[in-house]
Amino acid sequence: MSESAKETVSKAEKTAKVQKLVGVKGMNDILPPDSARWEWLEDQVRQLMARYAYRHVRLPIVEPTALFVRGLGEVTDIVEKEMYSFEDRLNGEQLTLRPEGTAGLVRAVVEHNLLYEGGKRLYYMGPMFRHERPQRGRYRQFHQIGAEVLGFGGPEVDAELILLAHDLWKVLGLSEVRLELNSLGQPAERLAHRQALIAHLEKHSDALDEEAQRRLHSNPLRILDTKNPALQGVVEAAPRLLDFLGETSLAHFHAVKAILDANGVAYSINPRLVRGMDYYNLTVFEFITTRLGSQGTICGGGRYDYLIEQVGGKPAPAVGWALGVERVLELIKEQGDVLPELAPDVYAIVPDTRAVPVAMQVLQALRASGVSAQMHAGSGEGMGSMKSQFKKADASGARFALVFGAQEVEQGLVAIKSLRDGEGAQRTESLTALAEWAHTLQSTL
Ligand code: ATP
Ligand code: MG
Repeated sequence: MSESAKETVSKAEKTAKVQKLVGVKGMNDILPPDSARWEWLEDQVRQLMARYAYRHVRLPIVEPTALFVRGLGEVTDIVEKEMYSFEDRLNGEQLTLRPEGTAGLVRAVVEHNLLYEGGKRLYYMGPMFRHERPQRGRYRQFHQIGAEVLGFGGPEVDAELILLAHDLWKVLGLSEVRLELNSLGQPAERLAHRQALIAHLEKHSDALDEEAQRRLHSNPLRILDTKNPALQGVVEAAPRLLDFLGETSLAHFHAVKAILDANGVAYSINPRLVRGMDYYNLTVFEFITTRLGSQGTICGGGRYDYLIEQVGGKPAPAVGWALGVERVLELIKEQGDVLPELAPDVYAIVPDTRAVPVAMQVLQALRASGVSAQMHAGSGEGMGSMKSQFKKADASGARFALVFGAQEVEQGLVAIKSLRDGEGAQRTESLTALAEWAHTLQSTL
């Protein structure tokens, strides 16, 4: 075989071997310009949290599997079938990609004894992982923002958290979000209700689906949360947990409602609202929109007074919520948002490579004074023609092109061309006067 034939063969082999790699199903790349939406939302959240004096925590994405099994409850959708659990093959540890944020936060609070000096108001944001069937509003890597108040047992913090979320919808410009409220009472009250509920469900056991059959004795409350339309009749006729609440639980519930009423927050009571995790008691709530199809819950939360001790801490009450960032962003888009401007202010055109160092210097000075500036980048074999550089400048969306001609630069000059007004007015400035120009430009941004 000739040398060139050999070369052709090995090239073919190479292309055959290099398979295109794609991302994991249900785990999305967040790319520009969409990423600007994400950052805008995160900024709004940070500002609002600061106004409520909530502090940010950043926690690991991987936790011991036992934390979630113990914390969320063994008979929950998440623990039964949605967790990404694995054994660290280097040391045999059983680990899980966090499916939600509360358990890890409680673990950290206990581990670092954060409640030692009294209660804490905290928030987090970041990716969560659940092995679900990917569809609109449901992904395998998704993102939550959560707010949690630990160490306070009173209804005022439940209401404060709801007001915080309600304010967030306002800041984000979201209407068409409604609030549903319920109380799950205390464990003893739940036990009495549970017996009545099991009796009711057993009477209708023929009508139950496989999942409900399985949960009948392990977690009957969750059956109330079923999405199976065939079960709605049985579930609607079931005994209501609200009717089993004692005076103290009812007083807590009424106090939360009174604060919401006084602050003009509308809600409806949904006696069948139970939430997915086992750890909730007393107040539970969801914010729901009808604009996103069946994945309409954008935020959910409630009180979890027993989770801290379940994770091995000194008993302390707590309450919190988590919102789904993808769903909130989807709703913002649905309501017709305007994407934030991503164009640079200035694009530098440099026809002659000899002018590159000076052009770079000028851009650095512009950036230092707050102007967003993009340098034309060549192919590696020169900078390209003036025409092609102007095309790139236009495509960038920049307001101005700075043209660094070799001759002009030698004379200490640069051309400034407006790219937005049709005519493209052009003038020449001295490099030293550019700082002044940048200043006026900045004040018009
Ligand atoms: P759903 O009933 O939709 O399954 P959930 O009760 O499992 O929700 P939570 O565990 O309460 O949800 O999580 C809080 C929020 O996180 C949800 O209201 C939703 O906005 C979002 N969320 C939950 N799971 C997903 C997912 N797989 N993909 C995208 N967002 C999600
Ligand atoms: Mg779910």
